[in-house]
Amino acid sequence: MREIDCETLVVGSGPGGSMTGLRLAEAGEDVVVVEEGDHYHVDSSADHSLEQMDEKWRSGGLTAALGSPKVTYVEGRCVGGASESNAGLYHEPIPEVIDAWADDYGISEFGADALAPHLAAVVDEIGVSRRPSGFSPASNALAAGADSMGWRWAEIERFWRYPDPKEPGGGERRSMSETLLPAMVAAGGRLLSRTRIDRITRHGRRAIAAMGQSDGEPCRIAFKRLVVCAGAVQTPRLLRNSGWTHVGNELTLNPMVRIVARFPDVVNRPEFGVPVVQIEEFKPTMTLGCSYSAPPHLAMWLEGSPSEVRRSLEDWERMAVFYVKVCGQGRGTVRTMPLLGDALVRYRTHAADFAAMGKGLARLSAALFAAGAVEVHSPLPGAQPLRKASEAASLEGVLNGRNASLSAIHLHSTVRMGDPSRAGADSFGALYGADNVWVNDSSLLPTSPGVNPQGAILAIARRNVLRWLDDR
Ligand SMILES: Cc1cc2nc3c(=O)[nH]c(=O)nc-3n(C[C@H](O)[C@H](O)[C@H](O)COP(=O)(O)OP(=O)(O)OC[C@H]3O[C@@H](n4cnc5c(N)ncnc54)[C@H](O)[C@@H]3O)c2cc1C
Repeated sequence: MREIDCETLVVGSGPGGSMTGLRLAEAGEDVVVVEEGDHYHVDSSADHSLEQMDEKWRSGGLTAALGSPKVTYVEGRCVGGASESNAGLYHEPIPEVIDAWADDYGISEFGADALAPHLAAVVDEIGVSRRPSGFSPASNALAAGADSMGWRWAEIERFWRYPDPKEPGGGERRSMSETLLPAMVAAGGRLLSRTRIDRITRHGRRAIAAMGQSDGEPCRIAFKRLVVCAGAVQTPRLLRNSGWTHVGNELTLNPMVRIVARFPDVVNRPEFGVPVVQIEEFKPTMTLGCSYSAPPHLAMWLEGSPSEVRRSLEDWERMAVFYVKVCGQGRGTVRTMPLLGDALVRYRTHAADFAAMGKGLARLSAALFAAGAVEVHSPLPGAQPLRKASEAASLEGVLNGRNASLSAIHLHSTVRMGDPSRAGADSFGALYGADNVWVNDSSLLPTSPGVNPQGAILAIARRNVLRWLDDR
């Protein structure tokens, strides 16, 4: 058995774990960050490729929350977590949402004003930027459609560096493996990849050691303090597996439904890069945006379409994927499957979310026709495409638990922070029922923030660690 000792063990190296590890290492703590996945270069595989899904996503992205319908979801699983393969869209959290969290969940010393300096520090430390010159044609179409409808839209900044204005599709992802993790190692922290923690041994409320596998060998890591940052599914899985069964009861996620539109001109080429435009008009409850549209993605989102529609994929350069994402009102649970060592995730989509997504589809289709789309493919299995704007309204009210094909990439709330009557951890992430265990990742967000969450996760993680350090 491999034996390791440290002052603080951080489980998981996504945004939450990286921020935690770096701040502790800088403060002179003997910190070890362990990561189940491998350590790849940020550019080890092409964006949106099968190879990237295989390298950087848990189970190659084949993960689903059971329910009616099931909701497929994606979790990162490599050094840097999901920041290594996500679009890196940075959206400042909506102040009213942050203030409501403080009030509704009894989070002390929290609110938009209190979080603002941490957000500013995150932006400064990691770097966000806008495209140096123009958007992709699919983004332009969405913006033009929003303008025609009189709706607000915006370019969303990214955790990205665009070095060459002439190559707007290129640039460097500001992922954790490129930013906070090397800084943590330079500050004396240790990073162990291919190290999965299965269980925490404890004496009553006190956690003693983490048991797992490192590079295929059994390992035991003894610590004084434990911080779990394994993401909104794996954090409650590990805690429940170690006897803290009050967590994993209130999973929230943002269900998404996607549609494909065809335009008369070319809107889709790999060099156009990630689409960065979102329609702001209906936030925080609803986001309309454009999505990755490489041929495998188009094929995936046309899966249930009639065969003649799928044949039209030969025309993929004129087609692009768009989405409706809602702030899900449904709730889910995370449980352990001891024999398989895996998480069992269930999610019940709220009836209001089907209605909201149907409304979103009608709005999105209307905007796309207004922008010149000649066809909008219905997400319903076997349905013919819509061919004129007057048909857009027919998508309202069409989705239900039997026909909707839903997915999610933003998961939260499995160990909410706040008052013990509503939360799994205190206002700064200390796990209830434990003396030396903290949580510091997406699990802490009380509900969905209604915008891309990575900025909020990093800022909250920073706020929490700085408080722990002050208290020591
Ligand atoms: C495809 C995709 C696109 C996205 N796009 C955006 C976007 O554009 N903008 C945005 O703001 N957000 C985006 N997100 C969401 C964002 O990436 C996540 O919210 C964020 O990464 C969550 O951070 P985290 O620290 O909670 O966990 P994660 O990033 O999930 O990291 C957790 C890490 O812990 C490791 N781990 C888990 N269990 C164990 C264990 N037992 N032992 C050791 N290690 C373990 C995992 O392997 C993983 O690497 C996207 C997510 C995905 C999947």
